[in-house]
Amino acid sequence: MNYLDRIKTLEDIEVSGKTVFLRLDLNVPINNGKVLDTNRIDASIPTIKYLLDKGAKLIIASHLGRPKSDKDTEFSLEPVAKVLSEKIKKEVVLVDQPKSDALTVLLKTLKSDQVLLLENLRFNPGEEKNDVDLAMFWAKKCDIYVNDAFGACHRAHASIDALPKLVTQKAAGFLVFNEFKNLSSIMSDTVDRPFTMIMGGAKVSDKIAVIENFINKVDSIIIGGAMAYTFLKAMGISVGKSKVENDKVKFAAELLERFEAREKKIYLPVDHVVADGFEAITQEITKSQNIPEGKMALDIGPKTIELFFSVIKKSKTVFWNGPMGVYEKSPYDKGTIELAKILANSNCKTIVGGGDSAAAAAASGVADKFFHISTGGGASLEFLEGKKLPGIAALEESRRV
Ligand code: AMP
Repeated sequence: MNYLDRIKTLEDIEVSGKTVFLRLDLNVPINNGKVLDTNRIDASIPTIKYLLDKGAKLIIASHLGRPKSDKDTEFSLEPVAKVLSEKIKKEVVLVDQPKSDALTVLLKTLKSDQVLLLENLRFNPGEEKNDVDLAMFWAKKCDIYVNDAFGACHRAHASIDALPKLVTQKAAGFLVFNEFKNLSSIMSDTVDRPFTMIMGGAKVSDKIAVIENFINKVDSIIIGGAMAYTFLKAMGISVGKSKVENDKVKFAAELLERFEAREKKIYLPVDHVVADGFEAITQEITKSQNIPEGKMALDIGPKTIELFFSVIKKSKTVFWNGPMGVYEKSPYDKGTIELAKILANSNCKTIVGGGDSAAAAAASGVADKFFHISTGGGASLEFLEGKKLPGIAALEESRRV
């Protein structure tokens, strides 16, 4: 499977004087009309600039949050338009469509220092329903479709799936192409070894498919976060009142056996930061792997950090997804921040799988030291599960000859 050969890049298409529908992921956190984190906007700039420099007319489109209807004005892309305009030094005209046909008129009179930004795609129910009529409305307005919204590529929505199928000329933007390239690199047989996968976060069930897909590819796996307690329970270790997925204990036991049979290693926490509950004021560190009765483990302990460090030190490639504890709440962020710093300062090529781990890497102040931080949590996991993402499949129809 080599997606790279089957998808056109920006350099493969002639965009000068053409109208490009550019699907981006500008789904940024906003509070009181202010963009709190511009990462996703920043990540989109190279593609926007390239297209503008080449003389394309841009219709930029993105979703934002989960509005229930177009009355949810807190989900308007207006604050994003302001930030984008400052960054690209062009006027960003926000267009509320397809209710009005303003788009046609605006496109006719568009000046070279202007770009169009469609209002939140999800204000229109057709977007999430993958509505072909809505897609056709857009298809008629553009010559070329470019997808640079990796974080949305796993959604079969109108602007991701139906639209590119209706447009002949289509390509992946720089961000999407980079994601394919970097994520594919750890799925290849030529990955630099030892290759370690670090999984954390809340649920085993969310990560099962990725673990399954990588079982023969990795040399070892580190498991932290709440996921680890399901594995510890499977080993007969007491987990107190920590979060456990009881219906996944059997899977965890089988996985431990499968790893052992392949002479691969699973590393689990050997000590824990525990408390009486989420809101407890005091914490303690367990002396062993066992979690005392009535206690809840909320982060990995110092011995575990040392153990994970020793594994990372010997690794050449690492894929990391999911926090080691309840990282949103101090002091339970320590294990995740330490892990981020260890990875950032190591010599291994580390790929971070978006979502919470990307946020944790940013919060640790070391984000720029990673080889690749995916912009799509759900999308990167589905990609690594080996699934064909709708956004990718729709672009693949533009095969190189
Ligand atoms: P995920 O989306 O699966 O990557 O999970 C991220 C969530 O896992 C975060 O909200 C963390 O607070 C949560 N989490 C990590 N470790 C623990 C833990 N020990 N107990 C409860 N929740 C946890």
